[in-house]
Amino acid sequence: MAGSIVACAACGKRNRVPAAASGRPACGSCGAKLPWIVDAGDDTFAEVAERSSTPVLVDLWATWCGPCRAVSPALEQVATELAGTVKLVKVDIDKAPGLSRRFDVRAVPTLMIVKDGKVVARQSGAANATVLRRWVEQSLA
Ligand SMILES: [Zn+2]
Repeated sequence: MAGSIVACAACGKRNRVPAAASGRPACGSCGAKLPWIVDAGDDTFAEVAERSSTPVLVDLWATWCGPCRAVSPALEQVATELAGTVKLVKVDIDKAPGLSRRFDVRAVPTLMIVKDGKVVARQSGAANATVLRRWVEQSLA
């Protein structure tokens, strides 16, 4: 499964981060926790999100959605601030009709917190990084 390259915020080393893994990604050079931000679709969601041992923040978004473009950097900021605590999984709903149906997505962005394979919180619409971080932390508390 495809991974992504993430630069360590602590030392700058570029690390390859897998889309799914049993542990939590850490920098190969200094050991700092790395933000975990991956894409998923109908055929990868189970492995990447539902079977993740790390709680997942799911971003159901669409390319044509203006608020999605606004919320995307805020979500990435939250994933960076909460590196090691939460994994950000981005789902393009136009490429994932199965997930779109299953989660009955009527508005984008729709955000969900998935913990141990279960949706524990859900909200629609854009919000800033401070609000999103508080929502994630309260949902996982
Ligand atoms: Zn590092």
